[in-house]
Amino acid sequence: MPYSLARHPFPPAVRRLQLAARTVLAVAGGDAYVRLRLVESSPGELAGFVAPGGGDHVRVVVGSPDGGPIALDDSGAPIGEARTETVVDHSVDEGWIDLDVLVHGEPGSELGVIGACAARAPLGSPAVMMGPKGSVVMSGAPGEVVLAGDDSALPAVRRYLRMLGPNVTGHLLLETRFDLAALEVEPPAGLRVRILEPGGAPSTGLIAALESVPSAVDPLQRFVFACGEQSLVAAARATLAGWGIDVERAVVKGYWKR
Ligand SMILES: Cc1cc2nc3c(=O)[nH]c(=O)nc-3n(C[C@H](O)[C@H](O)[C@H](O)COP(=O)(O)OP(=O)(O)OC[C@H]3O[C@@H](n4cnc5c(N)ncnc54)[C@H](O)[C@@H]3O)c2cc1C
Repeated sequence: MPYSLARHPFPPAVRRLQLAARTVLAVAGGDAYVRLRLVESSPGELAGFVAPGGGDHVRVVVGSPDGGPIALDDSGAPIGEARTETVVDHSVDEGWIDLDVLVHGEPGSELGVIGACAARAPLGSPAVMMGPKGSVVMSGAPGEVVLAGDDSALPAVRRYLRMLGPNVTGHLLLETRFDLAALEVEPPAGLRVRILEPGGAPSTGLIAALESVPSAVDPLQRFVFACGEQSLVAAARATLAGWGIDVERAVVKGYWKR
């Protein structure tokens, strides 16, 4: 029986959290992947939180990299630029959630809004989290998969690999310099793995690798996840169309813009 994807919307939620721990998971080419543990700023903030889908994500507003406060509007929503991050793990009972954040730039002058905070904000710094707005949940097991992504998609790829299990077959295409083992990305033996060097024109290596994957014997049995820099999206959609796969049966998303 072919797999299916169901999209479930969730009611809006704004949760006040604080930074409890950071762990540098891996460093590559001047970038780092940092795991942030955010905990409830008061009991019950995570009540009702669920994130059952492989790519489920939240929007996070942080203060300044030195741990400054976050202003709220009259409705209690945070004022400031939000960043979207994949849910790595969480416990509502224990009141924590983990996010893995890619940090660019030299130590002490890290780039970005959440990147700089992930690198430097003192423990106890505030964060406001919204979502997930919804979840894409897979039922059944695909006959084969094509998982493609760059650094920003590694947390989602890891979750999909764990959900798909050790017997999954297909293709894993990653544009990254990170040591996959350090990021706990453990491809099963049945996946053909291609690691592509980042850089150059946007996503070109990843797009070419995706286009080189042969068509599926049965398009209804192939699950495709293709997420990363924005320019991947149009190419991935065109590739799906060429394979005869409805994009609604896939997960294709721009995670960031160059
Ligand atoms: C559904 C979804 C899930 C996501 N999950 C994750 C996740 O789990 N972990 C994660 O780290 N990111 C994830 N992202 C990307 C994330 O939203 C941010 O883009 C990222 O964290 C950078 O934010 P920033 O504030 O540090 O940098 P920004 O202020 O957004 O950017 C600073 C500079 O860094 C550049 N830049 C940003 N991202 C990258 C990149 N990946 N490679 C090279 N240069 C880059 C920008 O072009 C800019 O020049 C996800 C995005 C989406 C839409």
